[in-house]
Amino acid sequence: TKDIGKIEPDFVRSFQFENKLLPLTWVVVRIDGCHFHRFSEVHEFDKPNDEQALKLMNSCAVAVLEEFEDIHFAYGVSDEYSFVLKKESELYKRQSSKIISAVTSFFTSTYVIQWENFFPNKELKYPPSFDGRAVCYPTYNILLDYLAWRQVDCHINNQYNTCFWMLVKSGKTKTQSQDYLKGTQTREKNELLSRQFGIEYNSLPVIFRMGSSVFRLKEAENGVVSGKEKLEGEVVVDHCNIIERCFWEEHPHILS
Ligand code: ATP
Ligand code: ATP
Ligand code: MG
Ligand code: MG
Ligand code: MG
Ligand code: MG
Ligand code: MG
Repeated sequence: TKDIGKIEPDFVRSFQFENKLLPLTWVVVRIDGCHFHRFSEVHEFDKPNDEQALKLMNSCAVAVLEEFEDIHFAYGVSDEYSFVLKKESELYKRQSSKIISAVTSFFTSTYVIQWENFFPNKELKYPPSFDGRAVCYPTYNILLDYLAWRQVDCHINNQYNTCFWMLVKSGKTKTQSQDYLKGTQTREKNELLSRQFGIEYNSLPVIFRMGSSVFRLKEAENGVVSGKEKLEGEVVVDHCNIIERCFWEEHPHILS
């Protein structure tokens, strides 16, 4: 057998590679549920949007912001959440694998622990998992473009899914519904919802249309969010329009 006295730690360690995220850039960790198409079916989520499932995701995101001080903002939709670290962050000396794994595993274990609070009558049938990645955004404007991109995605998917599931619930097969929607534009989808199903897209719950933003309240903003009294430093969930720059102009303390 090998003489363990001959192991050279420096040599063994030298196989680890550097994975430091670029300094002074905004790091975004985006986590996404693994195979949630299946997870949502097995757990009988309402389609197209299960509000309790979204609220569970939001609650996990709040816990992440409470755990990691350097995360200043998060945006979530469907089975994904983007977490933005302040650009000066030195969390884990900016080692990307450590940051991603710590945030992703904390989110995942919180999801499991909090499941029963959101689904008291539904058994968690198997352990959910999330994957994670980190991307550095070098300027404030590009970061805001990234966040706007996620919210645009939320709009597009939500509009498509709302039409799709209304067609399915009205008796069409999934394939027929898919074919029916192929190539339709935003306006046509809105008209379909309104004419055929009496749904005004803009009157759907804001959490479905806008996704969820999570951040800490600033002193001057003590007040009411989502109908509840909030205090300085408290982590809050809101469903704001983050595509429009006015949100960021009104909340400069969050990220700039
Ligand atoms: P992957 O592992 O590649 O991410 P996935 O099956 O998770 O695969 P996504 O593109 O991430 O695919 O899509 C997530 C899917 O999970 C949605 O398409 C939807 O079917 C389902 N889903 C997630 N959240 C909800 C929710 N709140 N209500 C209803 N369905 C949901
Ligand atoms: P870090 O977050 O940097 O990893 P840490 O507190 O987890 O900090 P580690 O170097 O990973 O530090 O050490 C793990 C510590 O957890 C051990 O020092 C020990 O105190 C404790 N620990 C882990 N597993 C056991 C165990 N099976 N029995 C008793 N103590 C344990
Ligand atoms: Mg994925
Ligand atoms: Mg997924
Ligand atoms: Mg997804
Ligand atoms: Mg250890
Ligand atoms: Mg440890």
